Amino acid sequence: MIIDTHVHLSDAKFDADRDETVKRAFDSGVTVLFEISCDPLEWDKALEFSKRDNVYISFGIHPHEAEKAKEEDFFKLESLIDGKKTIAVGEIGLDYHYDFSPRHIQREVFIRQLGIAAKHNKPVIIHCRSAYEEMITLLKKYENPPKGVIHCFSGTIDEAKVFAEMGFLLGICGPVTYPKSDKLKQVASEIPIEKLLIETDCPYLAPQKYRGQRNEPAYVTEVLRQTAELKNISFEEAARITANNAKELFLQPS
Ligand SMILES: [Zn+2]
Repeated sequence: MIIDTHVHLSDAKFDADRDETVKRAFDSGVTVLFEISCDPLEWDKALEFSKRDNVYISFGIHPHEAEKAKEEDFFKLESLIDGKKTIAVGEIGLDYHYDFSPRHIQREVFIRQLGIAAKHNKPVIIHCRSAYEEMITLLKKYENPPKGVIHCFSGTIDEAKVFAEMGFLLGICGPVTYPKSDKLKQVASEIPIEKLLIETDCPYLAPQKYRGQRNEPAYVTEVLRQTAELKNISFEEAARITANNAKELFLQPS
């Protein structure tokens, strides 16, 4: 079993060949896809996509979109969260690298969505870029911190350990295959595999073999292969354990 825990297949970059892309994923051994829909303008399109077999979905407001978020978006999010195939709230978080939305608005929108996730008993998929210190401080304030994943982790091993101790999983994606990604390779090899999820974040972040091209879920096998190698275990075992991690966090009946 292979789960790509983070895809954006509703993205317009797949409009021309979405069916073929999904088919290539399932043909290459991927068994389940988690579609991540984090722009309110795209929610309906993603909801439609998630009606396919073996596809689940997460809804949220990305920090990039935080400034545009309207009151009605939060109401709609609450209704989408209880959907049959909705597994999480996300991706939500802080992005101080691009700063597309003012930081105080990013924080406000993030915290509000943490509240929605808690109310509906759903895990969260967290996007965090150049904001790990603040993210840790913010999450530590919760007596019952949310359950979830720090998606596409790009922090240090020390930060990884803090998140893992708080109960979060860490999402490993394409950059782990890049020759110069020593920091991420260290995280993937030192953090116990029971704390890791495998993802593509397609269409972004294609693994080394396809670097510069559009990423797609079939390439998640490259991420798994690299992770297995770093862990010194077989590809099958890495696939089985990380898929189990994903099932335990996201697919348990709440
Ligand atoms: Zn993403």
